[in-house]
Amino acid sequence: MQKSIRNVAAYCFAILLLTFGFVRRARKRVFREKLILSIFFHDPSRHLFLSCIKWLQRNGFYFISLQELQQFALGEISLPEGAVLLTVDDGWRNNLDNIVDVADDLHVPVTIFVSTDPIEHGGGYWWSYVSKAKKLGISQWAVEALKKQNNDYRIKMLSTIRSCIFLEREAMTKDELISISDSKYITIGSHSVSHPILPQCTEEVALYEISESKKKLEQWLRKRVTSFSYPNGDYSKREVELIKESNFEFAFTGSPGYLTKDSLNEMFEIPRFEMLESASFIENICRMTGVWFINKHPN
Ligand SMILES: [Zn+2]
Repeated sequence: MQKSIRNVAAYCFAILLLTFGFVRRARKRVFREKLILSIFFHDPSRHLFLSCIKWLQRNGFYFISLQELQQFALGEISLPEGAVLLTVDDGWRNNLDNIVDVADDLHVPVTIFVSTDPIEHGGGYWWSYVSKAKKLGISQWAVEALKKQNNDYRIKMLSTIRSCIFLEREAMTKDELISISDSKYITIGSHSVSHPILPQCTEEVALYEISESKKKLEQWLRKRVTSFSYPNGDYSKREVELIKESNFEFAFTGSPGYLTKDSLNEMFEIPRFEMLESASFIENICRMTGVWFINKHPN
């Protein structure tokens, strides 16, 4: 109920932004100032993902791969105006039909950041157990509240909750991951081992989560894994250092912001505009173009 009230209010606001030319002006600015749109999804429907791609194509945007972004940052290539980088977090099984299929069909490069535990062991992502247990009245914990606890405590609560709840597999399987990584349009990056909130972990655990996920993915895929996305977008200076220590070349945050040649000097805190998959398409147009985050200082 609360969600639907939020979405109706947000829909009305998005209509106003569109009607009063905010989206049109943002698009013009992106082209004029050669900004790069950095957009991320989690588990969109095929309809939403396809609608976003088609809207961006109709409006003259050009999709770039992670490799092109790196070459641009190193000054090896220039990019056309209206460049867009698409990334996806977690490794949801639905991504196979809703994202990978579309990316292959329309020749759109996408980077998918996966957590290795849910892929290896099946079941649900940890927050799915927590929200189902709350819905069933088995536990009082809300997902957002548990994210604020230290990691040992979160794991303890989670193990009690998991013993009473069954969830079908939510992540793609290891074989599916290996198979999609063969596509020339799909790049696989790391999203940790178990998707903890890294700043709530001890340094030893945070390093394990970051470096072990890279090691495992490289063994599975038999190729280098160079990029990381911070689970839940949470990181501190310590995580940035651990990422560098683990030989990653890029790391993505969940903080909104356009990419520029200058902002790419810092490759371990790359901003992204988050799509909200439960929201209206019009709101998501405002999100993709950065208009939605106007007060959250997109650079
Ligand atoms: Zn995630």
